[in-house]
Amino acid sequence: MGKLIVITAPSGAGKTTIVRHLIKTFDFLGFSISATTREKRKHEEHGKDYYFMSVDEFKKMRRRRKFLEWEEVYENQFYGTLKSEVERIWEEEKHIIFDVDVKGAKDIKKSYPDETLAIFIKPPSIEELWNRLRNRKTEDEASLKKRFKRSKREMKYEKKFDKILVNDDLTTALKEAEQMVLDFIQPKKSKTKSKSKK
Ligand code: ADP
Ligand code: 5GP
Repeated sequence: MGKLIVITAPSGAGKTTIVRHLIKTFDFLGFSISATTREKRKHEEHGKDYYFMSVDEFKKMRRRRKFLEWEEVYENQFYGTLKSEVERIWEEEKHIIFDVDVKGAKDIKKSYPDETLAIFIKPPSIEELWNRLRNRKTEDEASLKKRFKRSKREMKYEKKFDKILVNDDLTTALKEAEQMVLDFIQPKKSKTKSKSKK
């Protein structure tokens, strides 16, 4: 059985940036592609960033118990980790990396307490978090408002996780994230892509 690296934080803290970097750096990590009912953003791809689906499809899968965890993160916007993703990535003999909200992170940890490293990404301040989210330019005003409201609440969860990673200077944060992963995964298996090319 492989291990689970769960990256969690309020929206805008830098989860996607950090997860993408870790996947590029470590070929032993496989990204758990979540299912979601939210609209696809311009640069996102179905089956790569998310499995985009209707609320009806999501609810049907939920009834069939296809999810390891799921959450209505925003009103009528559902997100969930499919059990089939966990199986797919373990079959590839990789460890799994997740990008989920704080409740999803707690649920995954509960299902796999000893195999999971849950890392909370902390922005330098709530104002900086909101600036980043605004500057990302992926959300309209209504969506920004929902995210700002939820992020205030989510910031209070930091102590519930195994590690807190402050994402202030990005280069530093990426290095720290790499080290946290390497420390958790057995060092023997810790080969970076760049090293293996040499
Ligand atoms: P999340 O996935 O948690 O919502 P993102 O990874 O999309 O967050 O990051 C939100 C925005 O902030 C993006 O535009 C990203 O490029 C930017 N960003 C991420 N980390 C930093 C950082 N350390 N300093 C400045 N901007 C950052
Ligand atoms: P976004 O719409 O910005 O991609 O994601 C919104 C929030 O949903 C983020 O906090 C993200 O981590 C979370 N999220 C994405 N996938 C999942 C999932 O499978 N389960 C849960 N619980 N949250 C998720």
